[in-house]
Amino acid sequence: MTADLRINARWLISMQGDRSVQEQVSVYVKDGKIDAIEPQDCQREASDTLDLGNHVLMPGYVNAHGHAAMSLFRGMADDLALMTWLQEHIWPAEGKWVNPEFVSDGTRLAVAEMLKSGTTTFADMYFFPQDAIQASVDAGIRHVSFTPILDFPTNFGANADEYIKKALRLHDHFGNEPLVTLGLGPHAPYTVSDGPLRQIRVIADEKQMPVQIHLHETAFEVQDSIDKLGKRPTQRLQDLGFLNERVSCVHMTQIDDSDIRILQDSGTSVVHCPESNLKLASGFSPIAKMAAAGVNIGLGTDGAASNNDLNLQGEMKTAAMLAKAVASDASALPAWQALEMATIGSARALGIGAQTGSIDVGKWADLQAIDLSNMPQQPLFDVASQLVYTDSSRYTDFVWVAGKCLLANGQLTELDEASITANAKHWATRIQQG
Ligand SMILES: [Zn+2]
Repeated sequence: MTADLRINARWLISMQGDRSVQEQVSVYVKDGKIDAIEPQDCQREASDTLDLGNHVLMPGYVNAHGHAAMSLFRGMADDLALMTWLQEHIWPAEGKWVNPEFVSDGTRLAVAEMLKSGTTTFADMYFFPQDAIQASVDAGIRHVSFTPILDFPTNFGANADEYIKKALRLHDHFGNEPLVTLGLGPHAPYTVSDGPLRQIRVIADEKQMPVQIHLHETAFEVQDSIDKLGKRPTQRLQDLGFLNERVSCVHMTQIDDSDIRILQDSGTSVVHCPESNLKLASGFSPIAKMAAAGVNIGLGTDGAASNNDLNLQGEMKTAAMLAKAVASDASALPAWQALEMATIGSARALGIGAQTGSIDVGKWADLQAIDLSNMPQQPLFDVASQLVYTDSSRYTDFVWVAGKCLLANGQLTELDEASITANAKHWATRIQQG
């Protein structure tokens, strides 16, 4: 059988679990999926061949948490505490500006930035998800959409019931779209009450949908729950029967051993967003400790308004640095573990680990190729170290999602970067003029 594409790479990092770098390998792609992985001297037939003699071929990054359209609020309100930032800046701006056009334009801006830095899948939790999904499908990127669910009204819905109905409608509408996975996104324990949380668990089990929730983002959230309910938020979710292997909890700062035990017992994943936590001074997530307890951990950027970029390579570096400081141990979260979190760990957290996140025969060909021949990566002793600790994403030259090339020689193939940039500038003018 002739493959559609053969990629000859200088190095291959497959993330199949053995933390090894293979050299001079060919990856064959057929019908959007990985068809074979062979040494370069054993040539099989392919319609097309791409020689990448200076590149490492690896899985595309999986950005396991974010609010893509918020890219249009990038840099609008910085250097503020979480609640001031939310209550005085973000929520009023969302009330004024967020509509289908904003979400479509903002998502396109986010997707362009993510593709250029090697991300092939992203999770999104934002209003008007149908417009974010459509923008992603048009761009060709893989998308896990967590429809936001809250108790209170927003531009997008009136109450938890209505948000849940919208999530189910989206599930029916986009259910057969191979690039899209539909999930449920209860915003946080302090914005969603027990009834809807129980209902979400039942629906997720019945329809096999992934669920994502912000959890233990700040010390205030944890103390408030103890004061009002007599228990920590993680304990509350466990008591509701909400936590299981389909759920990913975003942030998880301020956690103690009892929280870790609950995550461990329930098989719940954690999505770590170190730059957002640092920027909003939310606290530190003890990643090394959770990983040692066997908790699956993915990596996310969170929205661009609290980061302010969507570059998972930078996030890996921050995660590795921060984990060492938090654990007072320079061996905590080594480069390979950061790579795992940004690829297969994130994919598992989103419930799509069997489809993407590593280069395995039968999985989707969601790939990136990074040129390691440039000055900032020299001398090169260790490929994994260079990927995580140097500014490697600026040399991301190729990106494929389901075998389709979306970035070639550093240029977007499906999106028009100039018009996306001009459009974002136009939004800045509109927002500034109020
Ligand atoms: Zn978030």
